[in-house]
Order: sequence, then structure tokens, then C-alpha cells
Amino acid sequence: MKKFFAFALSLLMVISSAFAFSGCSFSNKHVKNVILIIGDGMGYEHILGGEKCKGSAFVFRSWNTVNVNTDSVTSIKNPPTPTDSAAAATALATGTLTYNGYVGKDDDAYDLKTIMDYAIEQGKSTGIVTTDSLLGATPSGFSAHSITRSNEGLLFDTQVVSGINLLCGATADYCTKDESREQILTNGYAYCDDFAQIDNTLDKEKAYWQLDMAGISATVKLPSVTTKAIDFLSRDSDGFVLMIEQAHVDKYAHSNNFNGMQLSARDLDNTVETVLSWAKNRNDTAILVTADHETGGLLMNTGNSGSGLHVTDDNKIIRFRWSTTGHTNRDVSLFTYGFRFNPASQPYYKSRNRIKNTDIFGIMKDLVLGN
Ligand SMILES: [Zn+2]
Repeated sequence: MKKFFAFALSLLMVISSAFAFSGCSFSNKHVKNVILIIGDGMGYEHILGGEKCKGSAFVFRSWNTVNVNTDSVTSIKNPPTPTDSAAAATALATGTLTYNGYVGKDDDAYDLKTIMDYAIEQGKSTGIVTTDSLLGATPSGFSAHSITRSNEGLLFDTQVVSGINLLCGATADYCTKDESREQILTNGYAYCDDFAQIDNTLDKEKAYWQLDMAGISATVKLPSVTTKAIDFLSRDSDGFVLMIEQAHVDKYAHSNNFNGMQLSARDLDNTVETVLSWAKNRNDTAILVTADHETGGLLMNTGNSGSGLHVTDDNKIIRFRWSTTGHTNRDVSLFTYGFRFNPASQPYYKSRNRIKNTDIFGIMKDLVLGN
């Protein structure tokens, strides 16, 4: 009996020392696929607004969550200038803070390695899906390099050689030019501009989809394209990294168009639901939902003092207030599913109770590298 207790005690010591050694980090070796869903401009109040119109909570609201600071180098040097989507996407995609307007470049204008580059090195497939043009700041931050976000030629030239397997965005003039089409094909992409024909590209190594996806009148909805993107990428037994952007939360917030904003936020919610229904029985997929920054300084729960008014489909009156047509430097939220991480282990969290946007890259990199 004594021997048994001695054995049990030593076993307990081994187990507890192993836990002490691992500290705060969690093993997430089960994760093969990483899906990042970005609501451009989607602050916490935009989520509330979407939920009020939906009549229930968004699907990701029960997940783990933490606040995220979005300041860029420009914000830090010239407070209170908010970030733009170029610097914000670069922070999320590369873990490096940079100037507003810079895409995939550090503040000395050197090219940065993106999460997509890390995924490719690990033998994973990669994809980008956006309701914006593929040359928009957010998709470009994950796939292109330029110190000017408006330099479409350079964004296109660097994106099309990025090695990313799936490039999918809303129809854009630059990308439909004959020379651009030529370049897309030369770089090995199967080109498709008709949703009904997408299945013809699902057995190809690389695909370039350009579809009518922009805004609330789009004929091709983000959840449907997301299903096709997952069909395309999940053929890879090594897993995949997919970035999905609903760009129109930001675009409608810039014109203080509440209805367009809430419909776009709900489209993002439907997209998350689509991803979750695929991922929930697999135990190999991490999902992150976040925003690059807040747009419009939106306030819900204003009571009767709200200058904005929206009547829902079931005749509920919702009041709100916008404070700007630009970006703000409010925190955004990160929601996570399918893996464990401890926000307090992120260096920025200490004393601030929130993480930095660059930490989201670090979280994804650990997942991709199997750390
Ligand atoms: Zn914006």
C-alpha cells in the first residue's frame, strides 16, 4: 500500500511539473485549418445594431472574446489619427505595425512576410475571399506589397505572384482588363466570373474568381461563395488558411447608411454560421472573427436621444447615433472558436486588458506552425 502511495505521489509530481513547465500556453496541435473573418469597420456597436435588427444574438457572441487595440504607426505618431484599412490589414496579416496607406510593407518600406507565406511554407493551401475588389486594402494587406494603397498596378502585380491558391473578390475594372486576365492565366489561375461556373474550377490548383459580390444588392452572397471556397481549399490534407472579408460594414458606415451597415453585418453573421456548420464536427479548424477598425463612431442604445432611426421588418423602432463619417480609434473585438489561447499571455495585454491587432497574427502563426 505504501508503495502504491509513493508511486501515486511521484506520478502526481510529474504531471504537475509538466503543467508548470507549459505555463500559460495551450497546445493547439489539433488545428489544421485557420479561418479569419474580418468585418471591415465592424465595431462592437455595429454588432449590437445588427443583432437588434436580426432579433437575436450573432452566432459568434457566445465564443471567447477580447478587445483589440487598432492603432497604426500613423496613429501613434499623430494621435488621435485612426488607422486605415491598409495599415490595419498589414498588422493582422504580418504582425507588424506600419503607416496608414502601407500594404504589406513595414515603416521602412520593406516587404513583410504574411500569414499566407507561413501557411504556404507549411504546405497548406491559402485563400482570400472579399466583398471588396481584390485590390482593396484588406485583401491586399494579406497578399500584396506597396507603400501606396491606391497603386492598383503594383498591388495586382504583387498579388498575382503571391502563390495564394484562391483569390476571390468583387468585380473590379482593373482586374477585368485584357492584360490583367492574361496575367492571371499566365500565373496559373483558372479564371471564373460566373458563380454558376465555379464548380468547373474546383479541381484546379489555383483559381481566380471575380463575382458580383459588392454590397447589399449583390447577386452573389458571401456565405455561398464561402461554401465554394471551403470546397476548394479543404481538398488539401495539410489544411488551409482562409481570410474572408465583409468589406461593406465599413463602406456603408462611411456614408452613415445604417440599413446597408446592418445588412452587411448580418451577412457576416450568416457567413460565420456557414463556416461554423462546416467546422463544428471536425475538431481541426480554428475560427477568428474580428474587425480592422471601427467606422462611424456608432452608438446604439441611445434611447430617444438617438438622431438615427431604423424600422425593422417586424416594425420595431431602433434608434442610434453616428458621430463621424470616418474611422475612429475605438477598440474592436476578437471572437475565437476551436482553439485555446490566453489573452493575458500576450505582452500588450498586461496593464491594458486588451490585445494589440498584431497579436492576432501571432495567434494565427502559432496555429499554422503547430506551436
Ligand atoms: Zn474605411
